[in-house]
Amino acid sequence: MSDLYQKLEDIVSEKFISNSEYVRHAYSRNVDPVLQGIPSIVIRPRDAKEISEILKIANEDNIPVYPRGGGDCEFGGSKPIGDGGILLDMKRMNNIINLDQENLIITAEAGISWGKLNEYLSDYGLYTGCMGPGSGMTASIGGGISHHSVGGGGCAKYGACTNQLVSLEVVLPTGEIIETGSQANKFSKIPFNRFGNGPDLAGLFCGDNGILGVKTKVSLQIFPKPPYANYKTFALNRKSAPISSEILSDIRHKGIDVYDAMYIMDLVVGLGLKEGLFPMWEKNLKRKCGIFFYTIEANSEAELEEKTKQLDNIILGKNKTQELGSEISDGNIARWHYEEQGHWQMYHNLWGLYPALEPLTAECFTPINTYPDILLDLDQWDMEHNDDIQKVTNITGQRPITGSGPVLLVDGCNVELTCGFTSNPPYFDGKYYDIIDEINLKLWKSILERVTKHGVQWYMMGDILSRLFVEIGAIRPEYHYLMKLIKDSVDPKHILSRGKFNFW
Ligand SMILES: Cc1cc2nc3c(=O)[nH]c(=O)nc-3n(C[C@H](O)[C@H](O)[C@H](O)COP(=O)(O)OP(=O)(O)OC[C@H]3O[C@@H](n4cnc5c(N)ncnc54)[C@H](O)[C@@H]3O)c2cc1C
Repeated sequence: MSDLYQKLEDIVSEKFISNSEYVRHAYSRNVDPVLQGIPSIVIRPRDAKEISEILKIANEDNIPVYPRGGGDCEFGGSKPIGDGGILLDMKRMNNIINLDQENLIITAEAGISWGKLNEYLSDYGLYTGCMGPGSGMTASIGGGISHHSVGGGGCAKYGACTNQLVSLEVVLPTGEIIETGSQANKFSKIPFNRFGNGPDLAGLFCGDNGILGVKTKVSLQIFPKPPYANYKTFALNRKSAPISSEILSDIRHKGIDVYDAMYIMDLVVGLGLKEGLFPMWEKNLKRKCGIFFYTIEANSEAELEEKTKQLDNIILGKNKTQELGSEISDGNIARWHYEEQGHWQMYHNLWGLYPALEPLTAECFTPINTYPDILLDLDQWDMEHNDDIQKVTNITGQRPITGSGPVLLVDGCNVELTCGFTSNPPYFDGKYYDIIDEINLKLWKSILERVTKHGVQWYMMGDILSRLFVEIGAIRPEYHYLMKLIKDSVDPKHILSRGKFNFW
C-alpha cells in the first residue's frame, strides 16, 4: 500500500476508499465510452472537512483530484484526463440539511440527486422549479450547478438550475472552506440571498465544470407547486423545425408563461416509432412529422384556461399543425412528461433507443431563431463525412445517426439544443475495431467544432469540449487569460480537474 493511500484511508476509513482495478475501471468513464481515464484511487468523503484534508494531501503530493457526482457528464468531465489521480465520489454526501419553509430555501449536501431532493420537497407541496437536468434521477445538485444544467423540467419558466442558487459551501482546491452570498457574513444564521457582500462569488463556481472548488453544500430557492396544470401535444406535419422555432418565438414575444415547451424532430419521431419507443404515437401519428408540446401551470382554473387559449391560438394558427388527444395513450407525451416524471426519463429512453450505440453529443444553448439552420447544417455535415461514416457502417451494418434530440425552451429567447451523432462502439461481434474508435473521436471533434462555429454557448464542457474549445481558437484569448489567472490563484498546482481548458 502506498503512503498516499494510507494517508487518505486515515481520513475516510477503509470502507470508503479503494484502489481495486474493478472499482477504478467503474469510475473511468462517463456516458461515452470513447474517453477513458483510469483513476489510481477512488474515495468517498463524508463531509467538507474530510474533503479539505484530502485536498491538502493532494497538494502536498501533487496529485490531481477529480470531483464526481452522478457521473452523467456527456463530455467526460467527471473522470481523469489521462490516467491516474484521485476520484472524489460525492454521492455519499446526499443528505438534506435544512428546509426553510418560511423563506422557501432548501439546503442540501451537494451529492444528493435532483430526484431525491424533489421527492422530499413534494411532501410539502414544493419543488425546485427547474428540476435539474434530464438525468435528474441520478445526477447530483453539485454536478448540475457545475454545469448550469437545464432540461429536467421547468426550465422555460425557471431557467437553468443556477438561477435558483442562493448560497454555496465550497472547499477550495487548497483546502480552505468558504461560504458564498449571505453566508459571507459570519453572523448570518441561514442562507437567504445570493447577491451582496461583494461580488457574486457563487457565480464563479456556477458552470465551472469542477475546476475551481468542490461544492459541498448547496442552498436553492424553492417554490410552491401551483395547483393547476395543463399539457398538450401537437404533430407538426410540415417543415417542423422552422414552425417549432416560430411557435417558441411567439410564446416569448406574447409573454405567455409556459413551464416547459419542447420540439422533437421528425428523425427522432420516425426512429422512435420504428423501435417501439413511443407506443403512445403508434396508432395516431405519421412517421414523418415533428412533435411540439407545452406544459403550463396556474393558480386558478381561469388563469389556466386563458393561457391554454392563447397557446392554442399560436400553435393551431400555424400551417398543418394538429392537436393530439389529451390522454397519454392518445399521444399526449406532455402529460407523461409532467405527471409521470417523463422529464427525468425522456433522455434515458432516447439514448437507450439503440442500447448498443453510443451518443456523441453536442449539447448547447442557442437563440430560438438559430436552431433550424444548425439542424440543416448537421444534415450537410453528415453528407460531407459520409466516407468515414460508411467505414463504420461497413463493419457493423448499422449507419451512425446524425441529428438532434429534443429542443427545449430555456430562459430568455434561448433553447437547449441536444444534437450530435450516435455511433457504434468499437466492440462488435466479439472483436475490437480500433478504426471505429478513431473515427468516432475524429467525427465527434468535427461535429463539436462545426456546432461551435454557429456561435453557440456550451455549458457542460468536460474533458473533450473544454480542451477543444481552446484548441480550435474559439475561446477569446483575453477570456481564457482571465480564467487561467483565476485558476492559478485559487489552485496554484492545478490539483482540481487538471487538464481541463488546457490550463495545465
Ligand atoms: C440520460 C442523460 C440525460 C441528460 N440530460 C441532461 C439535460 O437535460 N440537461 C443537462 O444539462 N445535462 C444533461 N445530462 C448531462 C448531465 O447529466 C448533467 O449535466 C448533470 O447535471 C451532471 O450531474 P452529475 O452529478 O452527474 O455530474 P458529474 O457528471 O458527476 O460531474 C459533472 C461535472 O461537475 C463536476 N462536479 C460534480 N460534482 C461536483 C461537486 N460537488 N463540486 C465540484 N465539481 C463537481 C465534475 O468534476 C464534472 O466536471 C444528461 C446526461 C444523461 C446521461
